Amino acid sequence: MQFDYDDQNIFAKILRGEIPNQTVFENDHALAFRDINEQAPVHVLVIPKGPYVSLDHFARDATAAEQIAFFDAVAEVCRIEQVDTGFRAIANARADGVQEVPHFHLHILGGRNMGRMLEPAT
Ligand code: AMP
Repeated sequence: MQFDYDDQNIFAKILRGEIPNQTVFENDHALAFRDINEQAPVHVLVIPKGPYVSLDHFARDATAAEQIAFFDAVAEVCRIEQVDTGFRAIANARADGVQEVPHFHLHILGGRNMGRMLEPAT
């Protein structure tokens, strides 16, 4: 699998400071910010700062430091957002995953019961 990163995607622009964001947490290798179209009371996106297209790209090619920092950011978001009663984490990838923004991001959704994992296809 070849991963071609498009540096004109909207999250790349956020990382370059060209578009504002509502930051929840940031470290050397990861940024967490509120989804602009929130689907739950808590809806935060955690992204690596490096140019990774999808979860499988990040898992294959990111350095250990980048992967540790990413999951540290996930832990910090869960702590800050106080999702003690639970949450859902979603990573959409490519066409079948209906990924809209081609920069790897993990959705952290919570603040309410999230229902069943998948709705029946329509
Ligand atoms: P996905 O389908 O997993 O690629 O989801 C992309 C997510 O990015 C959607 O939930 C959008 O609402 C969100 N999004 C798009 N543009 C922005 C933005 N400028 N700031 C924050 N979230 C955004």
